[in-house]
Amino acid sequence: MDFKGGARYRNPQAWIDKVVCREPALRNVHLSFPPRFSARLKFFGQATLQEKGISGKTLIGRRSLASKAELIDTIIHEELHHRIWKRAARGRKKDMMRIEDEQLEEAYVELISARFMRWKGL
Ligand SMILES: [Zn+2]
Repeated sequence: MDFKGGARYRNPQAWIDKVVCREPALRNVHLSFPPRFSARLKFFGQATLQEKGISGKTLIGRRSLASKAELIDTIIHEELHHRIWKRAARGRKKDMMRIEDEQLEEAYVELISARFMRWKGL
């Protein structure tokens, strides 16, 4: 499918799947959950913690459809939250500290995703 013009807004999930599958910057990034478009989401993205009986989730909001770089940035951002939660659950002290302070966790995620984007030249 060709996603020029407004096509990604008409078929956001197909575009997200294509970027996840084809984008070289994401090639060696193992995502905890396949990113799912949410038309209702007001944020760029949202990671949802896995709970007993319920799978975790990575949701992508409309604002992340603005550009490929924006989408990749959001995917990496939400993935970092999942990884922090996973490491904290295993008892890694640094990550346990991060999840106790929402601002600290967010600042860390912002820092690492910005570093990733620079490293990939995006
Ligand atoms: Zn965040």
